Amino acid sequence: MSVITYMSSTDSLTCVLSLILVLKLGTNPTSVDSVVVGTGNEVRIKPGQRLHIVNQLYPYTIQFKEDPTGKNSGTKRPRESASDDRESPREAQKMKAAKLTEKVPVLVNHGEAQKHTERGGLWSQGLKISMQDPKMQLYKDDKVVVIKDKYPKARHHWLVLPWQSIPSLKALCEEHCDLVKHMQQVADQMVQQCPDSSSLSFRTGYHAIPSMSHVHLHVISQDFDSPCLKNKKHWNSFTTDYFIESNDVIQMLETNGRVTVKEGATELLKLPLCCHMCHKELSTIPALKEHLKSHFPR
Ligand code: AMP
Ligand code: ZN
Repeated sequence: MSVITYMSSTDSLTCVLSLILVLKLGTNPTSVDSVVVGTGNEVRIKPGQRLHIVNQLYPYTIQFKEDPTGKNSGTKRPRESASDDRESPREAQKMKAAKLTEKVPVLVNHGEAQKHTERGGLWSQGLKISMQDPKMQLYKDDKVVVIKDKYPKARHHWLVLPWQSIPSLKALCEEHCDLVKHMQQVADQMVQQCPDSSSLSFRTGYHAIPSMSHVHLHVISQDFDSPCLKNKKHWNSFTTDYFIESNDVIQMLETNGRVTVKEGATELLKLPLCCHMCHKELSTIPALKEHLKSHFPR
């Protein structure tokens, strides 16, 4: 996680317990959520709000970070001041014994944070940032956006995301049927427009247990020829029943009004490495990759 203590050479930042004050001095466009902050103006950012500097290139949010020393809160806490009398020495002792830590607000740079918190936390919110990034967008309409997968597991790997905030498959219900069908149509359209679509086959589907927040449909060519495909988990997530076909999701929504994921999906990720084309079992990822070259010569 990256904590910034300044914003730019010209913008100033003050830490005040549960909020952060930002004084905009420079000329670069700055906004809090969608509200633009004019030069010379001071704004307060509260937890949950998003500060963008330089045309939305640098999104920041406030997070509360444990500070066991109590020294880095940015402003002196009242109980550290000479006149403070809120805590008796006994209470202070108890606090110390319980190893209570202070929580201080810090501005977190999302771009940096993603690199360092691969397991959960801000990392899992990365799609929400990528889907807003014009450089990642391949197609968009009023309902969905298609982005390049940042770590493609094949020669062509895209994600179709609805603009509507839907955290995962579990949150889908009957009313999302048309949206999910539209996501599938857009995926088919993307495949049709791909110059390799005559030589490569594609699959469209969802991971049973996604790692990233915001529902996303994978559109992936079946060569799996990519340096980002690094381990058994990656392989099995696209070649076993862990990968739920988009049509199956649509059917579940139409018949049951919800998507059910079979129990034990995570176990599928531990299955032996098996070629999806000829079912040959391979002992390692490098051996599998070598084998795949016979099915998908460059
Ligand atoms: P899953 O949540 O398992 O369905 O897969 C999430 C997909 O998102 C993976 O294929 C990742 O390579 C991809 N991914 C992870 N972070 C980002 C990001 N910040 N922008 C775009 N794609 C990402
Ligand atoms: Zn094979």
